[in-house]
Amino acid sequence: MIIFGWATAALILNQYPTLLACPACRQPRFFNIALIYSRFSLFYVFGIVYERHHTLRCSICQHEPDMLPLDIEQQAHPAAIPWRHRYGLALFVLIGIPLCVWLSIASRP
Ligand SMILES: [Zn+2]
Repeated sequence: MIIFGWATAALILNQYPTLLACPACRQPRFFNIALIYSRFSLFYVFGIVYERHHTLRCSICQHEPDMLPLDIEQQAHPAAIPWRHRYGLALFVLIGIPLCVWLSIASRP
């Protein structure tokens, strides 16, 4: 049986350097820069990221504004997506499958 699925996750990276008006709080607030990524995973471990984008989240109410500043990509710190989400499927294809084939050939009498 093969277990696979799709999931979306968010990583909070750092704070946007200037105050912005939050439409939900109706106050000037600091916003956190978040990386939203979507991944496909095989057996919950071997994943690959197929979509990513940055967004802002209000540090108080977590509201995501519709209009984003143009420099959000430059202000975002590098993301630390877990390695198994990012490269797990490539490792499975490059190492796991050849290892299974080699073990099946080596175990023949
Ligand atoms: Zn807010």
